[in-house]
Amino acid sequence: MGEQVKYELNEGRIPKRWYNIQADLPKALPPVLHPATFAPVGPDDLAPLFPMSLIMQEVSTEREIEIPEPVRDIYRLWRPTPLYRARRLEKALGTPARIFYKYEGVSPAGSHKPNTAVAQAFYNKEQGVKRLSTETGAGQWGSSLAFAGALFGLEVTVFQVRVSYDQKPYRRALIESYGAHCLPSPSDQTAYGRAVLAKNAKHPGSLGIAISEAVEVAAQREDTKYALGSVLNHVLLHQSVVGLEAIEQMQMADAYPDVIVGCTGGGSNFAGITFPFIGAGLRGGHKPRIVAVEPAACPSLTRGRYAYDFGDTAHMAPLSKMHTLGSAFTPPGFHAGGLRYHGMAPLVSHLKELGLIEAVAYHQTECFAAGVQFARNEGILPAPEANHAVKGAIEEALRCKREGRADTILFNLCGHGHFDMQAYIDYSAGKLVDQPYDEQELAMALAGLPSVPEPA
Ligand SMILES: *Cc1c(COP(=O)(O)O)cnc(C)c1O
Repeated sequence: MGEQVKYELNEGRIPKRWYNIQADLPKALPPVLHPATFAPVGPDDLAPLFPMSLIMQEVSTEREIEIPEPVRDIYRLWRPTPLYRARRLEKALGTPARIFYKYEGVSPAGSHKPNTAVAQAFYNKEQGVKRLSTETGAGQWGSSLAFAGALFGLEVTVFQVRVSYDQKPYRRALIESYGAHCLPSPSDQTAYGRAVLAKNAKHPGSLGIAISEAVEVAAQREDTKYALGSVLNHVLLHQSVVGLEAIEQMQMADAYPDVIVGCTGGGSNFAGITFPFIGAGLRGGHKPRIVAVEPAACPSLTRGRYAYDFGDTAHMAPLSKMHTLGSAFTPPGFHAGGLRYHGMAPLVSHLKELGLIEAVAYHQTECFAAGVQFARNEGILPAPEANHAVKGAIEEALRCKREGRADTILFNLCGHGHFDMQAYIDYSAGKLVDQPYDEQELAMALAGLPSVPEPA
């Protein structure tokens, strides 16, 4: 058996431009709507929340968008990220398939999220913004934006979902070490937070509530803007560096993927690795199968409805057409914290509707089993979210074994699990339970979807 091979680009090979899949879509994305009037939003409607450069990226249909040199310069701290061939895992599975993985855990925050955090901080700084507000669940996004804010001298306020704030102190400590301010959400710092607390002083919080609080703070202050770590088009755009590098690295390995697998919470790491390959296919190149893996306890792509829905609980954020479980949906408590948003990125949802991607859902214990098997063969302990991608890749490799096919599989190992050891302790102790999705709650949340007239 050969050695594990690591395909490394030199730092000069960091992409110079992001890839925008909106240029290659066979059908344009449905417009984003105003939460009160349901009219399509224009750039000016979004100006209180985002700098104009990011708003223009949000609606751009240009295929390539230049990465500013100061952003590339920071990317050099950890990019290009390595691509590995998982030979030991292949052998352990007894599969004829070749398994490659792109490892984003080498970033300062330990995941793919700094790819967009740095870009967003740059554009805000460029427009003279002083302060960013954001939400975070387990803390990966909060720590990534805190890191980016530190590099650009921006103040960062993070509303962290209360259960995570109480149960996961280490990410909060990282956020604060980078110099950002971290508050439990619901908080008493916003009108919306106070309203939620008035009804339930011990509310555990949710991403939807934390987004509402962060948006409220940004909308009220001239010097403050809002930053989101997933879902939006410009976030997915920034993540394209992952797939663009992977295309070059696969060439070095003399390979091209037959199947690409990514885990989906809001859809950004999945888009990052897959969109450049999907775009190549749409422009006449090879068309690999594309598989999105989501948690069975928060199954927006496989069980949600494709409909217009609010991005947040207080309905201050615009409406997007996406696969959604309803903005009133509160996912059951489980450890894959980053995968608990009620909706899916509009671009990923659109590709699913167009039949360009597939989706599967797995329960968390089978994903942890896959992650542990991966660690025992490849050495890296994946983030709980990334375990879903590992599980998806292993299932593809086992399918190849059954069918006697030597497919090439590529997946995104979007982060390491070093801040998630309590979840691994609970898994080892047999304490993680697979919550079956509550049909009644889904029906109720979906019944609460807004009835929006289809825009012409
Ligand atoms: C935030 C996060 C996710 C989920 O977000 P996506 O936008 O779906 O990528 C997945 N994995 C890791 C490691 C994360 O930090």
